[in-house]
Amino acid sequence: MKIYADNAATTKMSKTARDAMVQCMDEYYGNPSSLYTIGQLAASKLLEAREEIAGCINADPKGIYFTSGGSEADNQAIISAAEFGRKKNKMHIISTAFEHHAVLHTLMKLERSGFEVTYLDVHENGVVTPEEVEAAIREDTILVTVMYANNEIGTIQPIKEIGAVCKKHGVWFHTDAVQAAGHVKIDVADQNIDMLSISAHKFHGPKGTGVLYARAGIPLTNLIEGGAQEKGKRAGTENLPAIVSMAAALSEACAGMKDAAEKVTALRERLISGLQKIPHSRLNGDRQNRLPGTVNFCFEGIEGESLLLLLDARGISASSGSACTSGSLDPSHVLLSLGLPHEVAHGSLRLSINESNTEEEMDYIVKSVSEVVEYLRDMSPVWEDLIKGRKQFYFE
Ligand SMILES: *Cc1c(COP(=O)(O)O)cnc(C)c1O
Repeated sequence: MKIYADNAATTKMSKTARDAMVQCMDEYYGNPSSLYTIGQLAASKLLEAREEIAGCINADPKGIYFTSGGSEADNQAIISAAEFGRKKNKMHIISTAFEHHAVLHTLMKLERSGFEVTYLDVHENGVVTPEEVEAAIREDTILVTVMYANNEIGTIQPIKEIGAVCKKHGVWFHTDAVQAAGHVKIDVADQNIDMLSISAHKFHGPKGTGVLYARAGIPLTNLIEGGAQEKGKRAGTENLPAIVSMAAALSEACAGMKDAAEKVTALRERLISGLQKIPHSRLNGDRQNRLPGTVNFCFEGIEGESLLLLLDARGISASSGSACTSGSLDPSHVLLSLGLPHEVAHGSLRLSINESNTEEEMDYIVKSVSEVVEYLRDMSPVWEDLIKGRKQFYFE
């Protein structure tokens, strides 16, 4: 069996998205900035895509800025707020300890240039509360940036309530919604969102393209200088085939969202119930308040990396955390932020499924993980210490 269970790292392009891309390459190859008909046809495709994407998140199309993906959108949102804050002498930012590195590394860079950042605790369940956001807001706070849904454990944050707190205090609110877009409903107006990042390859669109949404009145700083594309805020000839394809993928995902969420949630529950039978293991993050398809477990006494390789040998593609950090031996900052000890955080597994997976596949995953965990524990010195009582188990 071949099972792709790493959709949080990236997804396979849908046929709709691929067809839209190919058609655009064949028929709309003009430069949208050119004044002749072929260019203007491309410009109207660009506008259509902007409107389509805006419609999916209930945004004004004028607030849609195309970027090279989620990372660029996160960088631009935070840097724009910081530049504005610096001018106003507001140099405090609020975020969480378990953001994606595109957010965290941008914040760290700002800290080195004089900004102060408060990283809110995400607790054992992987959720921050609006009350804690409110308590952290100061006179000099310019921005709150809290991710919509976590990429490693899948927990969803109370976005609308956090947005309301920010609005009340006149602080800008950015959310990295890369894991959420196309999977759960987003409404930037209703949820009080000022800026939002999305990335096409997380919802069956192409890689290397994304969106920064910024509401009217938010002055953006451009990261790339050059032409006047994207109202002068993001230079470079638009990647029209990718943009058109992203719009098609997002529309498709949003139209099928309810059915997909129902189906995927049922598969996820089957997976969780099966994996919970493995002794000394735990589901990371809140049991209910999570993305339909993301599951993250820790198994005591093993290394996540070995687990992954043995699962790969059985045809299962999974992850031990985020694709960006695997390869390094540091445990995931997300799992550490939940308060897990280093040793336990090392034994993690993330499975992220989608609507094309089946019950049979979930059962095969449960069986394979159970067998591989047992096999690895049999040769693990840490496990031996645990069962001989020389070390304490962390989970029952
Ligand atoms: C994947 C991801 C990103 C980065 O998006 P790219 O398009 O790959 O740059 C940012 N944030 C989150 C939460 C992600 O899952």
